[in-house]
Formats: sequence, structure tokens, C-alpha cells
Amino acid sequence: MRGFLNMPQSLNCKVCKHCGAAPIIFLTDQALYVVKCPNDDGHYQTAPGVIDVEDWNFHNTDVMETGRI
Ligand SMILES: [Zn+2]
Repeated sequence: MRGFLNMPQSLNCKVCKHCGAAPIIFLTDQALYVVKCPNDDGHYQTAPGVIDVEDWNFHNTDVMETGRI
């Protein structure tokens, strides 16, 4: 599991909208962070860079949930 960080509880992260898994933070070889689904690389993952929880949440929000954040 080297390269993976647990998502801090203090960050208000949504679960993966495809499978319901809590996201993980992956540290790339370029020392960039990716917030991604632990189960499937085909599920949404943020662009490498800073830990972008807002982007993850935006892409894992059901339409029905919009406005509840
Ligand atoms: Zn998933």
C-alpha cells in the first residue's frame, strides 16, 4: 500500500458514486496527489496535483443531492 494515504476524517469526502467506497489519496511518482476510488481506476479520480476534495465531491454528487452540501 505504499503511496496510499488514508483520507483524513476531517475532510468531508463523499463516497464513490459508482461503488460507495470511501476515496483514498494516491501519491504519484511525481509527488502529486490523486483522490481516487480504491476499487477501480475506471471510477472517478481527480487530476494529479493538490488533494482536491472539492473536485472529488463535485464529481461524486448525485443530481438529487445538489444543493444539500
Ligand atoms: Zn468506485
